[in-house]
Amino acid sequence: AKKQGKGCAVLFDAAMRTDALRRLQIQTDLRWAMEREEFQLYYQPIIELSTGKIAGFEALLRWEHPQKGFISPAEFIPVAEETGIIVALGEWVLREACRQLHVWKEKFISHSSLMMSVNLSSQQFTADLSQRIDQILRETHVLGRELKLEITETAIMADPQLAIATLNELKRREIKICIDDFGTGYCSLGYLHQFPVDILKIDRSFVNQMQASDKREIVRVIVELAESLRMDAIAEGIETKEQYFLLAQLNCKYGQGYFFSKPLHPNEAEQWLIGTRK
Ligand code: C2E
Ligand code: CA
Ligand code: CA
Ligand code: CA
Repeated sequence: AKKQGKGCAVLFDAAMRTDALRRLQIQTDLRWAMEREEFQLYYQPIIELSTGKIAGFEALLRWEHPQKGFISPAEFIPVAEETGIIVALGEWVLREACRQLHVWKEKFISHSSLMMSVNLSSQQFTADLSQRIDQILRETHVLGRELKLEITETAIMADPQLAIATLNELKRREIKICIDDFGTGYCSLGYLHQFPVDILKIDRSFVNQMQASDKREIVRVIVELAESLRMDAIAEGIETKEQYFLLAQLNCKYGQGYFFSKPLHPNEAEQWLIGTRK
């Protein structure tokens, strides 16, 4: 037994070293990835559940590494945050998503109310964020009210006072604020009504277990909470028709998930706007 234990430890060490090496490699390669134009945005349709119509897209970052292939944002975003690269990368994401939105609005005039959602890392939450966004909106001819920013509870709670000040600045520009992964982090209800938040995004861990009544009740409570705070609710990770119907029944306003569409290459996303996908 002792021998086996030791063998395990050796294997474990080797695995840890491989992980550490990969992380280090990612950290190094991230520095060049932007210049080498290895990043791309994919777009996942957001659906208005009562009509089934597309209301907008969430921009999701993709990194195609020259040797390692596609690396998940779940893996490289934390590294980009640790190294601080996320600030420049996040700004690129904002600019690219706005540029794309403007192109689509010019091309598909019937989609004049289309919104673009962009994920924001806590490190982008700085005092000059709104000025940086002003600049991007001016450059790309996008209006504040066409932009939605997704922020996690954790990012807000890291510095609630800074968050309130920054969010109020964004609100003045009519930018919509969405709390991402709602229900998984720590967000005091006492704070929630102080934040100028427009949308609560119900985490996929609740949505994809809605057949269980306890999870369904959590979803119901979040939808009702949103309603009583005059916010909208959006459900992420909808994978089945049953989940879709249950959410529509609960009057959840928006939804997204593989049931409607996975995140799409811009060319595929256009098919939704042309109307060949509805
Ligand atoms: P998130 O913001 O919660 O994004 C939703 C994730 O769920 C995406 O993973 C999406 O592809 C995936 N997803 C969508 N529908 C379904 C579904 O029906 N079932 C399942 N199982 N998954 C679904 P992705 O694209 O790998 O992104 C992972 C996370 O990386 C994001 O989670 C977000 O936290 C972060 N991320 C992605 N792009 C950016 C970005 O531009 N900036 C920042 N700061 N973070 C980003
Ligand atoms: Ca998100
Ligand atoms: Ca989410
Ligand atoms: Ca998430």
